[in-house]
Amino acid sequence: MQQWDVIIIGAGAAGLMCAIEAGKRGRKVLVLDNGKRVGRKILMSGGGRCNFTNMYTSPENFLSQNKHFCKSALSRYTQWDFLALVQKHNVPYHEKTLGQLFCDDSAKDIVQMLMTEAKAAGVQIATQQHIQHVIQASTSSGTGTENENETETNGKADYKAGYIVKTPELSRHCHSLVVASGGLSLPNLGATAFGFQLAEQFGLNVLPLRAALVPVTWQPADKAIFEEISGVSLPVTVEANGTVFPEDMLFTHRGLSGPAILQISSYWQPGDDITVNMSPQTDISEFLTTQQQAHPEQELKTALSKLLPKRLVEKLLEMQVITNQPLKALNNKSMQNIANSLHGYIFKPNGTEGYRTAEVTIGGVDTNELSSKTMAAKQHDNLYFIGEVVDVTGWLGGYNFQWAWASGWVAGQYC
Ligand SMILES: Cc1cc2nc3c(=O)[nH]c(=O)nc-3n(C[C@H](O)[C@H](O)[C@H](O)COP(=O)(O)OP(=O)(O)OC[C@H]3O[C@@H](n4cnc5c(N)ncnc54)[C@H](O)[C@@H]3O)c2cc1C
Repeated sequence: MQQWDVIIIGAGAAGLMCAIEAGKRGRKVLVLDNGKRVGRKILMSGGGRCNFTNMYTSPENFLSQNKHFCKSALSRYTQWDFLALVQKHNVPYHEKTLGQLFCDDSAKDIVQMLMTEAKAAGVQIATQQHIQHVIQASTSSGTGTENENETETNGKADYKAGYIVKTPELSRHCHSLVVASGGLSLPNLGATAFGFQLAEQFGLNVLPLRAALVPVTWQPADKAIFEEISGVSLPVTVEANGTVFPEDMLFTHRGLSGPAILQISSYWQPGDDITVNMSPQTDISEFLTTQQQAHPEQELKTALSKLLPKRLVEKLLEMQVITNQPLKALNNKSMQNIANSLHGYIFKPNGTEGYRTAEVTIGGVDTNELSSKTMAAKQHDNLYFIGEVVDVTGWLGGYNFQWAWASGWVAGQYC
């Protein structure tokens, strides 16, 4: 049977970072992945340019049932540490907006950088691996296929401590097992529930999972109304359950998307409203008063089209959210009513587009089960969970990769 110090399941962002760090410590490391290529989500992230971190990363940018859990890893491997690695490899990058750092050329640069580091650290990577099962060597009953992993001592099975990872081809033994198999989003890119199931197999609590950073879908009645303006986008603030994001919102055939909606989707639960301020920068009541004084004959739709996309204004008229009339016909109360509707427009999504298009999975391995210092399971020696499989989810904007790098780096110091 093959012997490894460390086996890491998942050659994504967290798994590769962990492998590099463990390899640098002289550990004999093997990374197993089910895909043909490593780092597939890195390659398609950020529209192919990988938003690899965020300059303003702080624990406030993450959702978790224990908001404090992510602090240790994020403070020990920071965005500046990852940036230093990017600079060391001369990967060209730029800040797009709001501290979001992207590759100038291609996400391939990040994967190449990680592969170069992994090679230098002596890490072995095996792709297209179908893991059938994992057992804890020291607690195995020694039945069935696990017998091949025994050493005979006075006629009694004596398993070495650690874990045995079995694929159809062979069994491998490792001292430390690191689970970095990611979340459920994009199943056609190889996402599986493996990490969550493995956690449950070892008796760890897994918190409920749901798709996040995901577009929301229309109720049937709204679809009939709004699909005609798909492609319209505008800067808004969106609010759900007391959390507010200022960003762009996009109308699509299926529902609402754009960065503002992706962000708020992490805070939205089925049945909740999303309240949209369609003119966060300009007070509509004051704007209409000024326009009325300057152009009393002007029509309301003409005035509002200076603030909002024209197709949206026409749709609001058609829906009778507003009624077209010359501005001189509006009194203060009617101007205030118009302002109130547009500053607090309520959408009631039907649901989300789900894991098919979501960027991340909320929930996962309960952080109460793990050490925030090492990412090791508290109840099992040398078993680690890192990256998205853990109940730590970042906002849109490079935070999820920063969590993957940081949690992978931390585990790499101990596994
Ligand atoms: C379209 C898209 C764009 C994104 N863009 C960004 C962005 O720009 N910035 C950002 O910060 N975040 C982004 N994210 C989120 C980010 O990709 C993830 O949060 C991050 O990749 C998580 O890292 P991870 O290592 O935990 O998991 P992953 O990177 O998903 O890696 C998990 C690996 O495990 C493998 N695996 C799964 N199951 C098994 C199994 N049973 N056996 C063996 N191997 C298995 C998978 O093939 C994969 O290689 C994006 C996500 C998506 C879907």
